[in-house]
Amino acid sequence: MMDEAIFHKRELDNCNACGFCQAACPIYRITRHEGSSARGHRNHLKALVADEMQPDSVVASHFAECLTCRACSVHCPTAVETDRIVIEGRSRIAAKRTALLNRSLFNHLLPDAMRLRRCMHLLRLGRTAPADTALSLLGRMALLPQGLQRAAQMLPGAQGGFLYERLGKLGIPSGSDDTIAYFMSCGMNYLTPNAGEASLRVLKQLGGEVMVLEHPCCGLPAYVAGEVEAARHMARQNISIFSQHTGPIVTDCASCSSFLKEYPRLVGDEAVEFAGRVRDFTEFVAERRPALPSASVSGRTVTYHDPCHLSRYQGLRDQPRQLLREIEGVEYRELPEADWCCGGAGTYAIRHAGLSEKILERKMNNVRLTGADILATACPGCLLQLEYGVKRWELPVRVVHISEVLAGTP
Ligand code: SF4
Ligand code: SF4
Repeated sequence: MMDEAIFHKRELDNCNACGFCQAACPIYRITRHEGSSARGHRNHLKALVADEMQPDSVVASHFAECLTCRACSVHCPTAVETDRIVIEGRSRIAAKRTALLNRSLFNHLLPDAMRLRRCMHLLRLGRTAPADTALSLLGRMALLPQGLQRAAQMLPGAQGGFLYERLGKLGIPSGSDDTIAYFMSCGMNYLTPNAGEASLRVLKQLGGEVMVLEHPCCGLPAYVAGEVEAARHMARQNISIFSQHTGPIVTDCASCSSFLKEYPRLVGDEAVEFAGRVRDFTEFVAERRPALPSASVSGRTVTYHDPCHLSRYQGLRDQPRQLLREIEGVEYRELPEADWCCGGAGTYAIRHAGLSEKILERKMNNVRLTGADILATACPGCLLQLEYGVKRWELPVRVVHISEVLAGTP
């Protein structure tokens, strides 16, 4: 594991201030503010490291604006890893500024699967039809801030129960052996359980046994908030839990799969064996293509949005497209700017509702150009954001996880 201080010095020195990254940055394209660009983040961190700047609210807001989408790194001649520069910036700010909500979320709620479960049950109780109607009315009358509206829409709804509640019905045991271990992301479990159910059905149809272990969050939400120690703690918890098991660890959340694979960078050699067993759902199913289930989605036109954590973080671009192209009777149409971030980025759509919506509008314009009736993706965060987009811009498009197309359930 490279020393973080050496890494950051190298990244800061590697930036030659050319500005090529600006055209690729969804946020800079909207704000046209140097502080929003990769070069701006590098300059802010450099000033913080040299004690030439205070970690005040202005610099904090610039670091907070970044989607950590890595589009800038792809266009950077020296491949500066801006996402890591931004996380370091956020981490320095988090160390100086107490954010009680973050601390409770990342130190007490997300590391404890049972506590999170109880909290989600309480939130679900509040998601009644009259409450939904009232919120939507307040939103239409512009009496509710945009971020709060998005937060309310993202709360867990009925959707036939959380994913962990459906495991018995699906015949998925919780135990430990060398079968496929499904890493159940918080998003799939609580926010998009239909997609998670489809993934489990596809994994079962591939011929192997699938099981689920009780585990905490992968730690990515804490990491991107700059709460690196909390993320490390969750990484160690997961490594320990999955050490009872020797088979592949598969997840249908691109953010989780990318972060689980990055554990060695976070905690060192103790994570190498664990990370070596992690597969994103699309990668795992594509490897076992001969046994691909037949889908009953004949006659439908499908397009695909690349989650940043799948395409840029893991280089998994061909696998999801191959899977969709090979489904009999389905017409695949490539989405223009398919790897342009959707603006979801975890809770970004809540914290930066205005910026997020502008990014999403560009995505929806591109979706409209395809004429597709199904928009598939591979991450629950993108799925929620895109679902919101098709409703907001009234597109006759069904948004699904790729597993739902493969399972024939869109
Ligand atoms: S493209 Fe890379 S080297 Fe050029 S300014 Fe941006 S981050 Fe720095
Ligand atoms: S990671 Fe994405 S949002 Fe952040 S500076 Fe780079 S391109 Fe812009």
